Amino acid sequence: MEDYKYSLEIMKAELKNEYICPEVKYAFKASIEALEKQILRNPKVMKEPMGNENFWWYCGHCGASRHTACRSNYCGHCGGKVDWNNSKTKQIEKD
Ligand SMILES: [Zn+2]
Repeated sequence: MEDYKYSLEIMKAELKNEYICPEVKYAFKASIEALEKQILRNPKVMKEPMGNENFWWYCGHCGASRHTACRSNYCGHCGGKVDWNNSKTKQIEKD
């Protein structure tokens, strides 16, 4: 697998180049948007889930609240990849 973060850096830097045409810029912007979903991000997890059966968490990409039966590897809203590494996963109180 190619290095996504490195590819994103290259495209983001290239967007600042004033000599590239708008079509290429558009393609880069779309590619950046899609590629960022492939980067693992930690979700925020509700300490005490509301209701009694669902597991509540917030996507680290789009912030959408998710309530799923289990830890899902992708956000069903934006398609972003979820990193369930416990040491980095934030626990939050319900609001
Ligand atoms: Zn999301």
